[in-house]
Amino acid sequence: MINNFTCRFCGNPLQHTFVDLGMSPLANSYLNKEQLLQMEPFYPLHTYVCDKCYLVQLAEFQSPENIFSDYAYFSSYSDSWLQHAKDYTDHMIKRFGFNEDSQVVEIASNDGYLLQYFKEKNISVLGIEPAENVASAAVAKGIPSIVKFFGTKTATELAGQKKHADLLLGNNVLAHVPDLNDFISGLKILLKTEGIITMEFPHLMKLIEENQFDTIYHEHFSYFSFITVNKVFASHGLRIFDIEQLPTHGGSLRIYACHADNSSRPREKRASDLIEKENKIGFNKIEFYSTFGEKVKETKRKILDFLIREVRNGKVFAGYGAPAKGNTLLNYCGIRQDFIDYTVDRSPHKQDHALPGVRIPIHNPSKISETRPDYLVILPWNLKDEIINQMTHIRDWGGKFVVFIPEVTVIE
Ligand SMILES: [Zn+2]
Repeated sequence: MINNFTCRFCGNPLQHTFVDLGMSPLANSYLNKEQLLQMEPFYPLHTYVCDKCYLVQLAEFQSPENIFSDYAYFSSYSDSWLQHAKDYTDHMIKRFGFNEDSQVVEIASNDGYLLQYFKEKNISVLGIEPAENVASAAVAKGIPSIVKFFGTKTATELAGQKKHADLLLGNNVLAHVPDLNDFISGLKILLKTEGIITMEFPHLMKLIEENQFDTIYHEHFSYFSFITVNKVFASHGLRIFDIEQLPTHGGSLRIYACHADNSSRPREKRASDLIEKENKIGFNKIEFYSTFGEKVKETKRKILDFLIREVRNGKVFAGYGAPAKGNTLLNYCGIRQDFIDYTVDRSPHKQDHALPGVRIPIHNPSKISETRPDYLVILPWNLKDEIINQMTHIRDWGGKFVVFIPEVTVIE
């Protein structure tokens, strides 16, 4: 045995490494000026895969209270994410006919970026959000929000207040849940007899295919294939009847679930097809998971090769964005101000802070025009097109864009 960890879903001992990214700080712990004079805690960023249920996972080193209670991520700062939320709302109303009599409940509702669109249609909404600072931004927009973590306890309280959901949704929350079984049991409790659950989370298949190892960070406890998430829901009396594969976050799955005994929702063909596809690729065999780690090491060597060559040639690098995934990548590769002078972010909550671990300073995007770097490294590569559109003026001085994932790519 190489550790004492057991699978957070099935309890089986974990002995197979998926990828080991060494020691890393919590990806969302941006440093202020006082913290720059202090030490930082680093935790192992070592993912395992369970050989019984194939859940890829990280152990829990920090309680969710520590991680999420003062969260720096405000969803409304991304234009494309807002558009995604609006499109989702229209799609759900059209497909399932939600109306003034429906109750929509969102888990990890953030600053109300999504529920605002249901509210516009006079649909009753409720947000559940553990970070008080982002929840108050939602309340200020008129989105009722309670500051809580979701699980059987919160679900039972809300069920007692007759807040059962016709639509129960969570985007980018399932992966962040340490007590997975308690969370899914909570969904079962809060869902109306005929209710619909949708959850979106990064798809492990895309993570592997597109080499997205930087989407691994401590706040992200679980990495799901469809075959595994199916098992998890089924074990709690829920049934996934449909899926959509989305481009968000580099490739996400949206699953549609209902109570297992709800016969009005037969399984759609695209859900069965995806199970077949994953089995064919090898997601149901432990050997399949053993090759990813070496691929990641080689990616690091290539990124450093590129940076060392260009910096020696006198080129100047700046970053764009300060996403959690950037912190994983920069810490794993050991990229500090010896390669990237600074990064910028539109969120005022991140500006005048530094990235955890590597301590690269975060400035307002206007800094880019002042210093005219040769290369702008786009850290949130999933928002690449949006950022290139916003920053196209760097071409005036011959600046080029770079992304590191899936591999080093210079965009002229
Ligand atoms: Zn397991």
